[in-house]
Formats: sequence, C-alpha cells, structure tokens
Amino acid sequence: MAFDCMGRDDNMNAIGVYIHYPWCRSRCSYCDFSIEITKKSIPHNEYLEAVLAEFRLRVSDYPQSHIISIYFGGGTPSLWNADCIAKMIHAVLNEFDTDGDVEITLEANPRDCTEENLIRWKNAGITRLSIGTQSFDDSTLIVLGRDHDKDNAKDAVIRAMNMGCFSVSCDLIFGVPKSRYEQTIKPVLNESWLPKHLSIYELTYEDKTLFSSYVKRNVLQPLDDTLLETIYCDIHETLTAKGYEHYEISSYAYPQHHSRHNSLYWSGNNFLGVGNSAASFQRFDDGSGKRWTNIRSVKSYMKHAPDQRIALEQMLSKEDVMLDLLWLGSRTSSGTARKDWDAYCDVLTWLLSEGLGIEQNGYIHPTLRGFLYADHIASRLFLDKK
Ligand code: SF4
Repeated sequence: MAFDCMGRDDNMNAIGVYIHYPWCRSRCSYCDFSIEITKKSIPHNEYLEAVLAEFRLRVSDYPQSHIISIYFGGGTPSLWNADCIAKMIHAVLNEFDTDGDVEITLEANPRDCTEENLIRWKNAGITRLSIGTQSFDDSTLIVLGRDHDKDNAKDAVIRAMNMGCFSVSCDLIFGVPKSRYEQTIKPVLNESWLPKHLSIYELTYEDKTLFSSYVKRNVLQPLDDTLLETIYCDIHETLTAKGYEHYEISSYAYPQHHSRHNSLYWSGNNFLGVGNSAASFQRFDDGSGKRWTNIRSVKSYMKHAPDQRIALEQMLSKEDVMLDLLWLGSRTSSGTARKDWDAYCDVLTWLLSEGLGIEQNGYIHPTLRGFLYADHIASRLFLDKK
C-alpha cells in the first residue's frame, strides 16, 4: 500500500470507515453537532447493534476495497464501552482487505484518558487518539463550556503519549472572546510535551448554539477579522519553526504523523460513515460518485431499519466530483494537479495572480494566504461552474 508523505493513499480502492458515536456528558457552548446528552445510562450494546446492522448492509457497496482507516468520532466516543469499540473494529477489519497497516482513531475527552481506559483502547485495537483538549487555559475552557480543566487536558496528552503505542493529536480553538492569544495559546505552542499532530480551529458561531445566542444579544463580541488573521499567521510561524508541517488549513503535523483518515476525505477516496448523521462517499469507475448523509437524530436512527436511515442522497457527475477535489485540494498543502484545473482556467489565473496559490512540478499548492482565503477560492470555483 502506497502512502505519500501526507498520509494520502494513491489507490482509489482505499477506503476509510467512520463510526459516529452521539453521546456527550454536556453540550459545549459552540457545538451544533448531532449529539445526545447522557442523562441516564447509554444504550451501549443497542447502538452497537444498530451501527453494525448498517455497516453490514452498506459494505457490499464497496467491493474489493482496501481498508486504510477506521475513525470513531462524535459526540464523545471515549464514553463507549471498550468492548463495543473492539467488536466494531473486528467487524470492519473482517470485511475488507488489509495489509495490517490500518490507522484506527478514537476521539477522546481528556477526562476519559485514564490509565485503565488507555489500556482498554489499546487492547481494542486503537492506534491513534485525537484528544479534545480545545484549550490549556481554565477561563477559556469555561467560556467554551468544556467539562474538563487544563490539568485534565495536559495530563491526558502526556499520559497517552507515554503509553508509547498511540499516535496522539490534540485540538485547540483560537479566536475565543475574552481569551487573549498571547497568554492562552502562544505559550502552549512552545511546550515540549505537545503531540506530533495538532488540529487548530478558529471558533465559529454556528446557528442555534449558546455562542450564537450570546452574540445576537451582544453578550459576546467575536474577534475582528484582522486580529484573527494575525493569530492564524502567528500560529503558522510558531509551529512551522518548530518543525511542524502545516499540511491542511487547520492541521499541523511532523512528517509521518499526518492523519490518514482526514487525508482520505481531502483526496477523494471512498469512505463509509455509519451511525446517526454520518456521511458517506462512493466514487464510481467513470469518475462520477454518490454521497449520502444519515438521519440526524439518534432516536430516529435507531428506530428505523438499516435501509431506511438515509436522510439525504446526492448523485454526483464526474464534474461535481472534480470540483470537490479542487476545493478540498485547495485546503491542503499538497494541492491539486495542474491538469485538473483545465476546466477552471479563469479561477486558476486569478488564484495565482492574487498569490493564493503557486505552481510547482505540475501541482497547484495553496500559499498561507490561500489557506486564509480558502472560502473565497471555493466560492469562485462554484460560481465559475454555474
Ligand atoms: S464534546 Fe464535542 S461533540 Fe460533544 S458537545 Fe462538546 S464539541 Fe460537541
């Protein structure tokens, strides 16, 4: 199996499986995901049966596929029984070809990263932990509505790395009102205990979140765009000087530590998502494709038969698939092949003249400015299509 330096797979038979786990202890102030709050006990086994039934139904859509990644996302999948996680991994590995080199990621809340759980996850087959730290500053964590403190976050990262068997990533959010970058994020970027993969997101104000209601009522004031750009560029300068590669808009990693699963989404490989609100993509031999998304609510997901759980299905022409590859590729440092821009020459000319991208060895790579204005690039591409 050939992986390039970005962790992408050049084999179009490669597939990733995403398993959505919807329960969380509480809802964070910025979150609009499809989740359930754990008021009573979680139906661990019932949910496992539901996702397994869906998986067994859909797997035949991907014949002769080679599994390269399994990803447990949420929600807070670190709340799921390790036995259920192990059974799910076993079922997926059983159905696909594998050369034994499969990235198996679990998103984990820092509070769940106890010594006992780390051992359970390792025994279940997890190889990578994506720890939802979000901040290492207590006041910022309170504003974000997180259910852990900075010590939980730091201890979780160090404990997971000390196990020696996991590839570890942690998340950070910048642009939080009332949280000064110079005091809350910048010092952390220089810590020696940081993992080799970091996902760093700008805070967004999604509809129907606590944060968006605060903004509407003027309780919170979002940071202005110029300040956000300065912070974004400073994070880039600080981390690349330490040897991290800024390989996607929000992702930094040392060489050989890129997330294989995310790279699979960005490079147009197949993925099968199971669980409520999970999305899937299937690419056909002629270059066209299909994507679908499951019912959002976990209650209806579990109530419906496995073949009745799709909420939205979309057939994609070859051109649609190519357009997706272009805008997704514009968000990664490896970029897109120059020849793939042939139908969008005007956009390419604009992008190069604005310094949003550069051409190198037959590829168009985004610049740092291109990362900053990635949404503009996507809008231009979609406008040009019409
Ligand atoms: S832990 Fe993640 S999924 Fe759960 S509420 Fe917070 S942001 Fe949303």
